[in-house]
Amino acid sequence: MDAAAARDALLAAFGPARCELEPAVEHYTAYGGIVGGRPFALLRPRSVEDVVAMVRHCAAAGIGMVPQGGLTGLAGGAVPTLAQAGRVVVIAMGGLDRVREVDPVGRTATVDAGCTLDAVEAAVSAHGLTFPLRLGSSGSAEIGGIIASNAGGIQAWRHGSARQLVLGLEAVFADGSIWSSLRAVRKAALGPDIGGLFIGSEGILGIVTGAVLALALPASGSRTALLALADADAAAPLFRLSAAGGELEAFELMSRNGLGLLAAAEPELAPAMVLDHPWTVLAEWSASDDGLGERVEALLARALEDGLAADGLMARHERDRTRFWQIRGRHGAACRRRGQPVQHDVAVPLAALGGFLNAATSLAHRLTPDWLPVPIAHVGDGNIHFDLVPAATGAADLAPPGELSAALHDLAGEMGGVFSAEHGIGASKVAELRRLTPPANYAAMRAVKAALDPKGLMNPLKVLA
Ligand SMILES: Cc1cc2nc3c(=O)[nH]c(=O)nc-3n(C[C@H](O)[C@H](O)[C@H](O)COP(=O)(O)OP(=O)(O)OC[C@H]3O[C@@H](n4cnc5c(N)ncnc54)[C@H](O)[C@@H]3O)c2cc1C
Repeated sequence: MDAAAARDALLAAFGPARCELEPAVEHYTAYGGIVGGRPFALLRPRSVEDVVAMVRHCAAAGIGMVPQGGLTGLAGGAVPTLAQAGRVVVIAMGGLDRVREVDPVGRTATVDAGCTLDAVEAAVSAHGLTFPLRLGSSGSAEIGGIIASNAGGIQAWRHGSARQLVLGLEAVFADGSIWSSLRAVRKAALGPDIGGLFIGSEGILGIVTGAVLALALPASGSRTALLALADADAAAPLFRLSAAGGELEAFELMSRNGLGLLAAAEPELAPAMVLDHPWTVLAEWSASDDGLGERVEALLARALEDGLAADGLMARHERDRTRFWQIRGRHGAACRRRGQPVQHDVAVPLAALGGFLNAATSLAHRLTPDWLPVPIAHVGDGNIHFDLVPAATGAADLAPPGELSAALHDLAGEMGGVFSAEHGIGASKVAELRRLTPPANYAAMRAVKAALDPKGLMNPLKVLA
């Protein structure tokens, strides 16, 4: 069947409400503005049955399928590659947006894959619960995308990444059959966990259509502080001290480089302290009892006394707290004003975090003096976003720091860590996955892909190209 006939057949099968033949450019533009290949149709299922019918249709016609969630992924996995232009369809999952059930007793929610994180949070908070996965992209990121990229975020060290928070899931395989383990139970010893393979699979094994999520009780009180550090080596021991009471919720490390860009863009946001020291941590503790304030004050005094923190600022009221979180929330946008960042998403064991930051900074100075490192780290899980932006304003067309990227990935591996922590492989790290994965592991992944998607139709050229 030629392309025109294939398009006509799709339209005839699913109608104009579910099949767009002239998709708008935003449906093949990855986050950050990189335009991918134009799909020959955009499919918009509204139900699991629609997904099954679309996958069966595409499988029979030999059409490649790119599952798409909220398009906030940072590895380019949700848009066709340029090489696939005109040869694949995008299946946009936002129409499956039903919260199927909330069980306030068992603390679970069963949701459609197209629900945004914010929509899930709104639904479960009505039952006095929270889904403890925090991303800056929560207004758009969908549960299916979060599962497919095994997203982590700010609270992952405490509550886990998607893998720990998904109790069961429902997915459509490449032939249109359905896997379902949609059970609201926390224990299941039922042989190999095939459903678990979809977590982190980035759409290459099938399409996630629903999930059972583990919920938690929200904290009823919190204390938030900014802590200045004299060097990166203090981050891990300061985290340890801060987490000792079991009430720490967030511990985000930012560099003076990035905060300097934030202060230039929004001077009213950044207190002078953050520019006086090379590193600043945003820490938040939560508890339901009244003694939290005193405990955190005592902890900060101890951190200053032990020399782990060089300075500190407690949020005295909600306005301060909002401002502290805005510093974290707007850090990325302030850095992007310098130009498109080059991102690295590594994780190392916590004990190696300071060593990685110091070594990576030296490598960046030596190998890429035209780029400015603006690292930010979710300290508790050792996840470092060692991002770089052009060192000078207006420096367009800088050569990508490829040698540095490879060196940083190698360094993370040598320290016992990984080169891809929470953003996934997508289209952008395919070669690195092949380079850095032990041959037996790589062969096993390929074997799983071949078994579940023998025709190679699910998200072709991604992850394991
Ligand atoms: C401002 C900002 C902050 C962020 N912060 C974090 C963070 O702290 N931690 C973190 O981990 N990530 C973060 N991210 C990255 C991103 O939000 C997450 O990766 C998110 O999980 C992607 O969800 P999405 O619905 O947008 O997926 P998309 O971008 O649409 O897709 C991502 C991948 O999943 C696949 N996919 C999507 N839906 C499905 C489905 N239903 N079935 C099968 N495959 C599917 C796609 O094919 C693609 O490969 C951030 C992004 C932004 C823009």
